[in-house]
Amino acid sequence: MPGTNLTREEARTRADLLHVDAYDIELDLSSAREGGTFRSTTVVRFTATTPGAATFIDLVAPSVEEVVLNGERLDTANFADSRIALPNLAAENELKVVANCAYTNTGEGLHRFVDPVDGETYLYTQFEVPDARRVFASFEQPDLKASFAFTVTAPEGWVVVSNSPTPTPAGDGPTRTWTFEPTGRISSYITALIAGPYVGVFDAYENGDQKVPLGVYCRPSLREFLDAEAVFEVTKQGFDYFQEKFDYRYPFAKYDQLFVPEFNAGAMENAGAVTLRDQYVFRSKVTDAAYEARAATILHELAHMWFGDLVTMEWWNDLWLNESFATYAEAVCQAEAPGSRWPHSWTTFANQMKTWAYRQDQLPSTHPIMADINDLEDVQVNFDGITYAKGASVLKQLVAYVGQDAFFEGVRAYFKRHAWGNTRLSDLLGALEEASGRDLKAWSRAWLETAGINVLRPAVTLNTDGEIESFAVLQEAPALPAGAKGEAVLRPHRIAIGLYELADGALVRTDRIELDVDGPRTEVPQLVGRHRPAVVLLNDDDLSYAKVRLDEDSLAVVAEHLGDFTDSLPRALCWASAWDMTRDGEMAARDYLALAVSGLARESDIGVVQSVHRQVKLALDAYADPAWREQGLARWAETAEAQLRAAEPGSDHQLAWARALAAVARTEGQLDLIAGLLDGSVEVKGLAVDTELRWSLLGRLAATGRADEAAIAAELERDNTAAGQEHAATCRAARPTAEAKAEAWAAVVESDKLTNYVQEAVIAGFQQADQRELLAPYAEKYFAAVKGVWETRSHEISQQIIGGLYPSLQVEQATLDATDAWLAAAEPAPALRRQVVEARAGVERALRAQAADRAAGARALGH
Ligand SMILES: [Zn+2]
Repeated sequence: MPGTNLTREEARTRADLLHVDAYDIELDLSSAREGGTFRSTTVVRFTATTPGAATFIDLVAPSVEEVVLNGERLDTANFADSRIALPNLAAENELKVVANCAYTNTGEGLHRFVDPVDGETYLYTQFEVPDARRVFASFEQPDLKASFAFTVTAPEGWVVVSNSPTPTPAGDGPTRTWTFEPTGRISSYITALIAGPYVGVFDAYENGDQKVPLGVYCRPSLREFLDAEAVFEVTKQGFDYFQEKFDYRYPFAKYDQLFVPEFNAGAMENAGAVTLRDQYVFRSKVTDAAYEARAATILHELAHMWFGDLVTMEWWNDLWLNESFATYAEAVCQAEAPGSRWPHSWTTFANQMKTWAYRQDQLPSTHPIMADINDLEDVQVNFDGITYAKGASVLKQLVAYVGQDAFFEGVRAYFKRHAWGNTRLSDLLGALEEASGRDLKAWSRAWLETAGINVLRPAVTLNTDGEIESFAVLQEAPALPAGAKGEAVLRPHRIAIGLYELADGALVRTDRIELDVDGPRTEVPQLVGRHRPAVVLLNDDDLSYAKVRLDEDSLAVVAEHLGDFTDSLPRALCWASAWDMTRDGEMAARDYLALAVSGLARESDIGVVQSVHRQVKLALDAYADPAWREQGLARWAETAEAQLRAAEPGSDHQLAWARALAAVARTEGQLDLIAGLLDGSVEVKGLAVDTELRWSLLGRLAATGRADEAAIAAELERDNTAAGQEHAATCRAARPTAEAKAEAWAAVVESDKLTNYVQEAVIAGFQQADQRELLAPYAEKYFAAVKGVWETRSHEISQQIIGGLYPSLQVEQATLDATDAWLAAAEPAPALRRQVVEARAGVERALRAQAADRAAGARALGH
């Protein structure tokens, strides 16, 4: 989008010039039910260090009615390229801007949603990174903190929530006016407004003389599914844990959590008014992994109230620190808070965060954790696996390196020193150095200023008695993809080595050694002279961030006994290692399938089970030799059906296998089973075929040509909700006909009428691994359209299309060639280029993995 960028240099210049005191913001939302635009009036008071200087304020709006600076009316032509030029500042300034701002349907700015169940309108704001300017004129950068006072006019009967507690509305007639108290000094991106006939449930967090009002909100059509008690329980555990660890009271007046529709991210840490995606209000049975993920999100946002909201990064280059800290905090709180239902959170962290980070860190777009963020376009594509997951992994490593007590002591000093202010990374590292007595400069250079993943391999030699003669940890420098930024270096790793023995069918840890690994080879003298254990596991307890390989003997034991580790974390680490080897072509897709078929039968951790389900499907669709692929899919489908029937009735595992079957069913018998579950003629004892599962089953029937438009329409009739409309869109786009594909393509690429969620649903249905031929013509169409999409759509919408419609299923050299030709000819902007290059890397990796799988197949046949 031209004209909406802001460079770091511009931000720095503006921050040097201005001190912003306060905003008074009046929003007239009486037009909300009709949509279109709304009146936004901003009065902002600020001082300038250099009177006479000029600056600008940010605004993205269809039109400006009035700009008055220090009593003088400015020409509205000063508004151009999403900025209002402000010439000739005084020492003390008052600016008034009256604008007509637009409701959006992209989840950016003020999102407007109409619930098909009750026909009512629901609004919420989403401002990170630079979208407060879509709702009011603002100096949109995190280090220009100010106090914000909102006055909101909205339909009578509505609920209006913002950062400050909701006042009693005034007025009569069809609208009311809510006048909120000013906030403390915060950044514009964490201000918020949520308005509509939402329903709330209330409680309070009480601790001694402290009482913080708590609210949980959703749309009325979801109220019957809202388990507010469970949300409050996790929230209160988080308050207890963080207040104690941070030694700083919760800094805002109240804490509301609002489940809102069509939300792009997981949640957003608006000060005291957190918004969360409303799929977290579960309409159907979900597994415990979903409750765990929701609790993690709740704790993540709560941690941001201190780290991010109370103390805020100066510029977006420290976004990683903000997100990594909150991500680390969510896991450590779940692991340690008294009463936590998920004390095994580090298993989930290994299973999900690490996998995400390792994947992202091997893309050509990988970058050091401390990224160059020169402008807003840079930061918008940087909400990635490096920023969240690698950063959090490295923080976990930092905690192992300095010790947890010293870590939190440093954090406590940091909050006290910088409350309500802005900081850089060096402020946190300085506090941690003081607390730990360790010099963190070398650590910071090795971990934060370089890219890629080290590989750790064991090197074992045995004597003739089978005792360990030598044991060393070998470290390899990251294999950085061509074009990746950053230097490939060896790093200092604080790791544990776990020694496991088989006893009565169980793999039990008999010893643990913790040590510092540095350089290419680190000897482990503690192991010399010992009997060789059944499994030696490097990076046990997952302290460091590294790809780990098993020695040949350990790998053989793991291949047989993966399910026999008594603890979930080493299992997750071995699963991760196997997956990683599969992605790297070191393990054939068919061998990964075999491992999954045997290992999953005994895997109790439901989150791990679900991850392996997804990974097996991806391995078969993308990494398997195409000549063998159908055999693998058939075996996987048989496994899913058998496990579904064998699973404990009503269990999470049963549901997970039902979903796995719904993703892969292919024989007439399997499709009959699915159709039977859907129409009720077949029953699997204990399996609730509820709303969401029905859509999964129907989706497979639609994709295989067994369910037509009438069947989809009938299901939508049963579930005529927003979620139902999205599922129906997926089913329609999934149908195996040229017409269905053309319709889906046109709706996404040639029109901009779809909301963010419906568009995402259509894309999900469009891409079907079993429909490669049908989809082949769209590779060319993609390259013809993608630049126009990038130039004309909002960031969120174009990101969905660019990544989602890339011809990832065409795993062929021709796809790489077409991509390269487009890259050469189109001269795409860096952020667009990055997304296409990332998608290309997936095809390149799949080609390599297919070759490895083909070779394994040939070996098995004795060629
Ligand atoms: Zn966050």
